[in-house]
Amino acid sequence: MLGDTGVGKTALLQQFMTSEYMGAIETSFDDDCEKTVSVLLDGEETMVDFVDVRRDQVGLLLQSTNKHVEGYVLNFSITEHTSFQYVHDLVYEIRQERGSSKAVILVANKSDLVRSREVTEEELYDLCQSNDCKYVEVSAALNHKVDELLVGIVKQIRLNSKRE
Ligand code: GDP
Repeated sequence: MLGDTGVGKTALLQQFMTSEYMGAIETSFDDDCEKTVSVLLDGEETMVDFVDVRRDQVGLLLQSTNKHVEGYVLNFSITEHTSFQYVHDLVYEIRQERGSSKAVILVANKSDLVRSREVTEEELYDLCQSNDCKYVEVSAALNHKVDELLVGIVKQIRLNSKRE
């Protein structure tokens, strides 16, 4: 889980925990930054380790060839263009450093705050089209489309592990 502070990563992780797809939850470390969970989807169980990566650790993460990193969930708020710009640059950096093998999923959060919207769907669509990634607009606050996002993440991880 990457993205600027305040875009809703913690809120999103909390909503994942209440999802109907969520099975057992093991908190690997005694903090809010890492959660290992089992997700039950289509009769199959997938263990997912969600790590909320601090901005100052992102460089290290991208340079690492850690095979356990199956994908990058890039979070921003539709109400803050600067948070989108950060994610925009990260997409290019990930594709440059790690190629196209890993899943990159963009989360456009705070969709409930339509009137304060600063990021257009068009720029989001264009970024994803040219970099082979997916996006989902969600509201972590209203739990809107959060299940769709979780399912999308798990499907993407499964696809990738079958390719390898
Ligand atoms: P983090 O720093 O990325 O982990 O962000 P947080 O999850 O702590 O959220 C930052 C602030 O945004 C908090 O006040 C949340 O209540 C609020 N927030 C998170 N998601 C949403 C959302 O979907 N809509 C609205 N309106 N506020 C949200």
